[in-house]
Amino acid sequence: MEYKLDNKQNDKNKKRVALVTGSTSGIGLAIAKKLADDGFIIAFHSKSSISKGKELADSFENSSYHQADLSNSQNTRKLIDDVLNHHKRLDVLINNAGISKTIAHKNLKEASPDIWRELYEVNVIAPWILISEAEDALRKSSKDNGTSCIINITSHAGVRPKGASIPYATTKAALNHMTKLLALSLSPDIRVNAVAPGLVHTPMTASWEEAHHLWRERAPMKRGANPEEIAHIVSMLVSNTYITGEIVMVDGGLNLT
Ligand code: NAD
Repeated sequence: MEYKLDNKQNDKNKKRVALVTGSTSGIGLAIAKKLADDGFIIAFHSKSSISKGKELADSFENSSYHQADLSNSQNTRKLIDDVLNHHKRLDVLINNAGISKTIAHKNLKEASPDIWRELYEVNVIAPWILISEAEDALRKSSKDNGTSCIINITSHAGVRPKGASIPYATTKAALNHMTKLLALSLSPDIRVNAVAPGLVHTPMTASWEEAHHLWRERAPMKRGANPEEIAHIVSMLVSNTYITGEIVMVDGGLNLT
């Protein structure tokens, strides 16, 4: 790792830094805003909305913006270097960026190997690279203040046999399992948890009419979630100092029906 830790930045009273991937829209943006409200300096990230990212970084004190295509392993590694070079520390990593593909579960041939690889690259391999590159910095921050953590944004589709497609659901199940395995491997310095949303009103789901109908009809809460409701749970998991290895389902109770 190329960055050098600045001793002044090790001061417990210095503001902590959170990297939120995919934070220029949807759930990631809501998480970044909530963590900024909680007092974090935010490292914003996106694949392509560069001007929006820079605008966001300018509107939150000491925050930064970093562009990286997480389907490219080299770019993914460089993202952590960029954040550490800029802020000299990292306390919280939120693996939120993700992609989906809608394919009927019975239509096996449409779920081609290329689609499997594309989804795995962004939804599973990128979080793994980011975590492994961030490990040293997160352990270091943990020694300063005992609160380093990683939160993976997975999906209820990674817990129940449901979801936009079998490849998508499988990537989220993999990320849920990775969460538990890493909670063991990285303890006690770094807590690792996942938040598994059901339907959330974001650009990704704007055209998912069937899902919106399902949540209105069947979910005990009678609606999908707002991104802020997911961000609230993330903030709770970040502020807690004990919880690790948990997959927190936030689906308005749909899994009960
Ligand atoms: P969104 O499309 O608004 O956000 C996805 C983010 O991922 C974007 O900021 C985008 O820049 C980033 N991203 C996508 N591909 C990328 C790549 N190759 N490199 C870098 N960044 C990339 O969608 P959202 O609904 O806010 O989704 C956020 C996360 O929540 C995803 O992991 C998604 O799977 C998960 N999720 C969403 C829902 C839902 O109903 N919206 C439900 C369960 C889980």
